[in-house]
Amino acid sequence: MRILIVSDIHANLIALDKVIAHAGQFDRVWCLGDVVGYGPDPNACIEKLRSLDLLSLAGNHDWAVLDKLDLEEFNPDARRAAIWTREQLSVRNLDWLHALPERVPTQLEKFTLIHGSPRYPIWEYVLTPAVARINFDHFDTPICLVGHTHVPVVYRYFADERRATAESLIENTPLAIANGRMMINPGSVGQPRDGDPRSAYAILDTDAQTLTPYRVEYDIVATQKKMEQAQLPPRLIARLSYGW
Ligand code: ZN
Repeated sequence: MRILIVSDIHANLIALDKVIAHAGQFDRVWCLGDVVGYGPDPNACIEKLRSLDLLSLAGNHDWAVLDKLDLEEFNPDARRAAIWTREQLSVRNLDWLHALPERVPTQLEKFTLIHGSPRYPIWEYVLTPAVARINFDHFDTPICLVGHTHVPVVYRYFADERRATAESLIENTPLAIANGRMMINPGSVGQPRDGDPRSAYAILDTDAQTLTPYRVEYDIVATQKKMEQAQLPPRLIARLSYGW
């Protein structure tokens, strides 16, 4: 089975469409949260995902839109975008966001899906091996797929030494996942933050036991124009050009 793994789409439909087209054939989609927030097309992104064979979970921006999180915890730009998004969403799509779980152990047993971290699924950023190491105690499966930081990375765990290491994911290069425990972040579809503005995603091949990261260019200027029309905060528009 080929599974398309996406995270942090952030209502960037042009990027999501490009990723889906670039991915070619796949059987299912796993989405690691933050479908909305920041970007100009929240309804269309949710509807696109709903049209696919999808397993999705909730991110902090999804919860912010639902008032499940205190918006005071967001910076002013993110807060403004969350309020704008709430005004845009249809009742049906708000209900869909409401139903998203915080954590998904998949039917394939080997994987746990989470937005932030296994310890604090909605909020914690796994940005260092030290934080990753602690989090390996908070899930049972060999592999946990996470999002939230918008930076593609794999953390490996060495239980004997209680040590975790971090490696960047290398695009187009399959990562073997048959052995060992790992936490893997595919990066962000709609707002990359690793200095590379191209959309990031991954394909999990459950037969070959590999996860392959990809990057794909999308029409950033077209997304930025939509954001300008929606009067979303200028800083959120500018950052897409730089991938931060
Ligand atoms: Zn995000």
